[in-house]
Amino acid sequence: MASKVSHINDPSARLKALCEYGSQVEVDNTLPTKLYFRSGRELIRMANVYLDEANYESAFILYSKYITLFVERLPSHPGYKSSPPPDLAEIKKKMKTVFPLAEEIKSKLKKRYIEEQREREELEAKRQAKVEAENARKRAEEEERLREKLAEEEKIRNESEEKWCREQEERYRELQLQEQRRLAQLEIDKDKDNNISGLNNERISVPSGNLDFIPNDLSNYMPPTDIGITTIPPVPDRDLKKNLTISDSSSPQIPVVNRDSKPNFDHFTSIGNFGGGSCNIRKVVVPTSIFSQFLKVAESNTNRNTETLGILFGKLSKNAFHISDVFIPKQHGTPDSCDMENEIDLIDYQDKYDLITLGWIHTHPTQTAFLSSVDMHTHFPYQKMMPESVAIVCSPKFKESGVFRLTQNGLNQIGSCKQTGFHYHQKEPPLFEQGEGVELVEGTSVRFTDGRK
Ligand SMILES: [Zn+2]
Ligand SMILES: [Zn+2]
Repeated sequence: MASKVSHINDPSARLKALCEYGSQVEVDNTLPTKLYFRSGRELIRMANVYLDEANYESAFILYSKYITLFVERLPSHPGYKSSPPPDLAEIKKKMKTVFPLAEEIKSKLKKRYIEEQREREELEAKRQAKVEAENARKRAEEEERLREKLAEEEKIRNESEEKWCREQEERYRELQLQEQRRLAQLEIDKDKDNNISGLNNERISVPSGNLDFIPNDLSNYMPPTDIGITTIPPVPDRDLKKNLTISDSSSPQIPVVNRDSKPNFDHFTSIGNFGGGSCNIRKVVVPTSIFSQFLKVAESNTNRNTETLGILFGKLSKNAFHISDVFIPKQHGTPDSCDMENEIDLIDYQDKYDLITLGWIHTHPTQTAFLSSVDMHTHFPYQKMMPESVAIVCSPKFKESGVFRLTQNGLNQIGSCKQTGFHYHQKEPPLFEQGEGVELVEGTSVRFTDGRK
């Protein structure tokens, strides 16, 4: 799975980046600590799922966030010291297993990162060797070509020298013949003269330097001089070449961890964009049967023009949430509101089925499906604790249902609004949106547990 840190090669830098994600936890002091204790249990639940699915990076981030939340952040919450002792004891107990588990995963990841880096380096070395071999082959080819060229030039030069020598020899022979003919002629002429006068027997001396004009050196001979070792292009410095090749390649760069680039969605129950979908919100799968099932449960209230409320629970699987359960608490409803009668403890119920809180569902007996100002305030803590939490509204009268979530603007406005009851909020930009990151599926039913009985 591609992750936020997979672009970092250096194992230590990669782990460091992961740890930084795990330390990104913010606590809203206006929310009661019990919500954080509940979220803490859900963090562990989600981390366990990631661990089972061998998604070690996500598991590590969530265990780290658990540690950061309860060791560093929550203790400075004003209500921390007055938290129920069992909650505090539970954290203390959990830490004994979470700490070593996080360490174990961390060393597992480190091993994996080192192994991945080794594989990367091996691949790079192979690639380098291939490039080197190719360069060597090209150099050998070039040298062979030069050798052939030199041999060819040498051959041409030898041939022209031989030709010149042959010509000179022929010329020499020609001159010798001429000289012999001349001498012979002289003999004839002399005999003639003797026969005529019979007086002069002196030999006529012949100058002996007549053959000196034959060149005895090759000073005028100009064999081609543009051949020779100086014309071979210099072989590039191999070390330099190697250096250039390395700086050209992209993989073995020194990893740079940009500390400014925080994930654009940072939430303590999220894993950042470690395999997350759009906006790093994990998908929430809602079975469509939930609407009709809930309207059936709410029917008697609806007939009395009274709202009905349920809590949504689900499971994490392959980085998506699946709503699987609705718990109907003891409640007191009116035509446009509904409150739990007392904050019931759902820990046992959640533990029994290993559930994660994913929002709430309620009816609007006479109105359309939307989020009223009171609904938005009710939904705020759900979404603050778990960014994927939804508010489902069913309108039997208008036969419509909506799966809502606060927008970032909605979270900002509601988070800073101190009013209670129905009141006005600036409506632009929109405070809530419908169906974002939600997938409706058919053919799955939801388990309803009625806590009113
Ligand atoms: Zn409502
Ligand atoms: Zn408000």
